[in-house]
Amino acid sequence: MNGKVYFSNSLSREKEEFIALEAGKAGIYSCGPTVYHDAHIGNMRHVLLADTTKRVLRVAGYDVKHVMNITDVGHLVGDGDDGEDKMEVGKAREGMDAWGVAKKYEESFFVDTKRLNVIRPDVVCHATGHIPEQIAMIKTLEEKGFTYINSDGVYFDTSKYSDYGKMAKLDIEGLEAGSRVGFNDKKNKTDFALWKFSPKDEKRDMEWDSPWGMGFPGWHIECSAMAMKYLGDSFDIHTGGMDLIPVHHSNEIAQSECASGCKPFVKYWLHNEFLNTGDIKMSKSSGEFLTIQSLIDAGYDPLAFRYLCLNTHYRKPLNFSWEIMQNIAKIYQKMKTKILALKENSDDNITLSDLAMKYDADFKSAIYNDMNISLALTTSNLILNDKILSDAEKYSLILSHDLVYGFDFENMDLEVLEIPKNIIELAEKRKAAKDNKEWESSDKYRDQILKLGYIVKDNKDGYEIIKE
Ligand code: AMP
Ligand code: ZN
Repeated sequence: MNGKVYFSNSLSREKEEFIALEAGKAGIYSCGPTVYHDAHIGNMRHVLLADTTKRVLRVAGYDVKHVMNITDVGHLVGDGDDGEDKMEVGKAREGMDAWGVAKKYEESFFVDTKRLNVIRPDVVCHATGHIPEQIAMIKTLEEKGFTYINSDGVYFDTSKYSDYGKMAKLDIEGLEAGSRVGFNDKKNKTDFALWKFSPKDEKRDMEWDSPWGMGFPGWHIECSAMAMKYLGDSFDIHTGGMDLIPVHHSNEIAQSECASGCKPFVKYWLHNEFLNTGDIKMSKSSGEFLTIQSLIDAGYDPLAFRYLCLNTHYRKPLNFSWEIMQNIAKIYQKMKTKILALKENSDDNITLSDLAMKYDADFKSAIYNDMNISLALTTSNLILNDKILSDAEKYSLILSHDLVYGFDFENMDLEVLEIPKNIIELAEKRKAAKDNKEWESSDKYRDQILKLGYIVKDNKDGYEIIKE
């Protein structure tokens, strides 16, 4: 390995050295989107946490297997196994069946992750595609005596697992004292559904036969069944947003460890803090949220949003505002322009000087220290402004850093080259007109450029041309 890597583990609440279960390999499971609505930029913050974790481990020399699920059934509106299935909410809104809703929003999710240059997980698995695995796991739990059946379905009895809520440090007694006995037909307030019965008088779009009757799986069981199928009973890393700790991840741990015979389910739990607007967590259910498309519509490159997320440590809240977005977009654009200008002096066979090696060591110690990407970006910017390093050294260093950042600077110059010569000439004429305060003439050139499908935007360094 290329160095010791440290992560903040929500299980121990401490920063710990990453020691893989199998030397040189790392298994990561990430809770994927519930595909009943567009993913918002808060969801994308989690996607970027998972992507960055994978990239950092790859740079450190690990062979990473990344698994992400698509929640296309069973995620109910209420955390207490109450309320409608979110897919039904989507169905009512869209006027198409639940399968159509799932397909539509899975597609749009991957369009957005591509815009953010996220590496597609090695395994993308659907809850609806793993019903037999989920039924098998519920049967194991039933055989081991961890379940009971009530009017609503098959439930996990959390009182049978003494470590329940260990990650969230849940005050189980407090929770129980505050709840009615027999709450929602459960024995304990924290019990959760493994299998839900279909309503008797209703045919659901998504329902399956099971040893307990027609129904559908609870939300939590899908992640345990699929994670264990693809990564084994115990694996290295599980990622998700902070909101998942008290219920979804507590339940995943309980059912997985009980099914496998109390083997530790996950070694390192990584959780991102929320993306908020005005101190309020962005959520799909509120109906008011921003998507990657909203950023594009406002004139922003999705990669500038990537920069924004990378620049805020994943354990810190990210308060999104258009003002912050605008400032970050400028910083990102400046960095991009500098890097692309180095391209023509690149040298694939460059030998790095001691100074370049020192910068690289600073970069690595930042990324390995609980993914301090903001500090890594500071190092990259120091490199770009350094007066001693050669352009070839700078370019070589930044391209290697970009394996973690994921902006794909290496292929970006094509975009610049694609801008035709006549457009550049017009932009130059516009600049000369502006410098001479010939406003009418400079507007004329701008309109001409626009008609040809390009936009010229002024910035501190002069101007930039982008495709319309
Ligand atoms: P969902 O599509 O609602 O199942 O959520 C997918 C992932 O996004 C989960 O890991 C959530 O914890 C995470 N998430 C949801 N809202 C936010 C937010 N406002 N900020 C950061 N992460 C979030
Ligand atoms: Zn999950």
